[in-house]
Amino acid sequence: THFGYKTVPTAEKQAKVAEVFHSVAAKYDLMNDLMSMGIHRLWKRFAITLSGVRRGQHVLDIAGGTGDLAKVFSREVGSSGRVVLSDINESMLNVGRDRLLDAGCSNVDFVLANAETLEPFADESFDLLTISFGLRNVTDKDAALRSMYRVLKPGGRLLVLEFSKPVFEPLSKVYDLYSFTALPFLGKLITNDAESYRYLAESIRMHPDQRTLKQMMESTGFKNCDYHNLTGGIVALHRGFK
Ligand code: SAM
Repeated sequence: THFGYKTVPTAEKQAKVAEVFHSVAAKYDLMNDLMSMGIHRLWKRFAITLSGVRRGQHVLDIAGGTGDLAKVFSREVGSSGRVVLSDINESMLNVGRDRLLDAGCSNVDFVLANAETLEPFADESFDLLTISFGLRNVTDKDAALRSMYRVLKPGGRLLVLEFSKPVFEPLSKVYDLYSFTALPFLGKLITNDAESYRYLAESIRMHPDQRTLKQMMESTGFKNCDYHNLTGGIVALHRGFK
């Protein structure tokens, strides 16, 4: 990129992602609050509102990490429902499990799973799928979308919350500056790991923009796809149905 950072080649990406999240797991929640100045909580709340989650539903949170969404879904689906918190990274999933068990969430399962295959899960087994700030870390996003389509029940809904493209240029400039200077600085300060947060900025920049992601969802077979820009398109929430 013109910032002079090396782009991670696809073949190395999965190992790199594993290393990044293993390294930040313990401080992940604190970093999220600091880096987004707490706004990630609002983005997630919006996702929950658009999820239409109801009692008794079966919900899968993919790349769910420390379980922000799963925790809310656990309450919403009630004792007749079930939530699965899944992630490819054991360190992140462990933090999530401890946190949700401490919070008394008794209707949640914790499953190691790669979003590209979702291999542990049967076809058409979930009413609702979410992937929040996870898709950009996935190497083969089309494979991941196909797997999501596979495990979703007909009539079910997929929500993708992810960094996207700011809708106007000045915001884009400020945001670039922020991601490539403040983020690594905060990363270094809190986790002593600037490199992981440089990776974060890089992965955000490489992620497909709003329209591209919507098209990818449509070509996978998702119906009635739409998206909402949040915070001027810094983040977008995509929605699609099976
Ligand atoms: N969903 C949580 C949230 O919104 O706070 C965590 C997001 S965190 C930025 C990204 C997560 O994606 C990490 O926990 C990481 O381990 C996970 N991840 C990365 N690649 C993955 C893959 N191929 N399959 C499943 N999870 C993956």
